[in-house]
Amino acid sequence: MRLALLAAALLSTAAVAAAQTPPQVAMEPANRWHEKAREIYARTIAFETVQGRNQSPQMAEYLMAEFRAAGFTDVVVQRHDETGALILRWPAARPSGRRPILLMGHMDVVEARREDWSRAPFELQEADGYFYGRGVLDNKQGVVGVTAALLRLRAEGFQPDREIIVLFTGDEETSGNGADLAAGTWLRDANIEYALNSDAGGGAYLADGTALGFGIQTAEKIYQSFTFTATNPGGHSSRPRPDNAIYDLSRTLQRLEAHRFEPRMNDTTRAMLTHRLETAEPPLAAAIRRWLADPEDGEAADIIEATPTEVGLTRTRCVATMLAGGHAENALPQMARATVNCRIFPGVDPASVLSTLRELARPDNVTVEPVDIARPSDASPLREDVLAAYTDSIRARHPDVAIVPDMSTGATDGLYFRTRGVPVYGVGGVWIVVPADERAHGRDERLPTRAFYENVDHWTDMIRRLAGPAG
Ligand SMILES: [Zn+2]
Repeated sequence: MRLALLAAALLSTAAVAAAQTPPQVAMEPANRWHEKAREIYARTIAFETVQGRNQSPQMAEYLMAEFRAAGFTDVVVQRHDETGALILRWPAARPSGRRPILLMGHMDVVEARREDWSRAPFELQEADGYFYGRGVLDNKQGVVGVTAALLRLRAEGFQPDREIIVLFTGDEETSGNGADLAAGTWLRDANIEYALNSDAGGGAYLADGTALGFGIQTAEKIYQSFTFTATNPGGHSSRPRPDNAIYDLSRTLQRLEAHRFEPRMNDTTRAMLTHRLETAEPPLAAAIRRWLADPEDGEAADIIEATPTEVGLTRTRCVATMLAGGHAENALPQMARATVNCRIFPGVDPASVLSTLRELARPDNVTVEPVDIARPSDASPLREDVLAAYTDSIRARHPDVAIVPDMSTGATDGLYFRTRGVPVYGVGGVWIVVPADERAHGRDERLPTRAFYENVDHWTDMIRRLAGPAG
């Protein structure tokens, strides 16, 4: 889940409005579906779905039993590796001819140690208007929101006019194999029109009540690392050679530092930048206007990219992150190696990034190899129906709040579907107070109780709208 990044991005757009009232974080269950959601939340937080003792299969079995008890018949737990994934299919009751939609979330969480936390991490606790526990934000709230919404819709006699498919994975935080298998094998022939991901999107408030807005995630940069290696015959350090692996590597890295990849723009970054115009300082606003008018204007893109809050928005970025080399204080280095991490702009082929890096390294005979082979991924087009459903659902509970398309710089399970041509939208309905609640993967992870209950209603509204006659 990339909510923290989203919040940071939204922060840069904060209106300089007068302080409002603090956001109301506390809420009591308003109906029996809220109560049911809270019960499922408590059960799921207790499953230790972490690498090494991953109870995702047990959590999936529990959820499967809940779904079956509610009348869903096509629910399975797919075991793979050391984990498992839940897949539910709810066929269209009144087929409209529209293709299926996929609802996504992940059950696994990042490790949490009791001694690092001020409370037991695998026990749902409520205090000061917050739910506490590992996964309350990333991403068990999403799994529970989707689950409770489906249980409610089924009980209320909702008749989907297209198939609804659910995928809850058990290894998003580690290998991502579950999503890869789902996209490539289990659901390969499901003919999915698009996916809604509960693990991305969402909103943020400042402590004084200023709304920073809600993001709908439509694109993810591709994560790809490379090793740069310089080799040399070496020798005794008392007799330096004209060539030297460390100097060769450092010259190449300096060229990398100066290099700028070609600027790129898509629907999502265009919308993000248009939104920035409302609050950007005059010099940044001028550069944004120039670039929006002419995406070939690399100089304007450079000015935007050099602004700390906008880094990474205009192109692929690569940066040196690790360094190793030499084997003795008194020997000429036979090897020097750097790790370079790239965040590749959606739609850019990772192979073209590799060839650019090799060109940069060639003058010094430095070799460049990818660490893993990344798959190219496109940005999902901004769909009017999804954007409208999201906007209306969020504004039903947060009137007038800004809705901003978002491109995140990391990867979620959604990437595996995007790489196979299925558009994915991060449309979570939760929100947090920043920076106090930015605790995904961290200590004392928490979520406003109001955000949790609102998210159950949000998913109910989204499914009703996008899989019902109104959509
Ligand atoms: Zn997540």
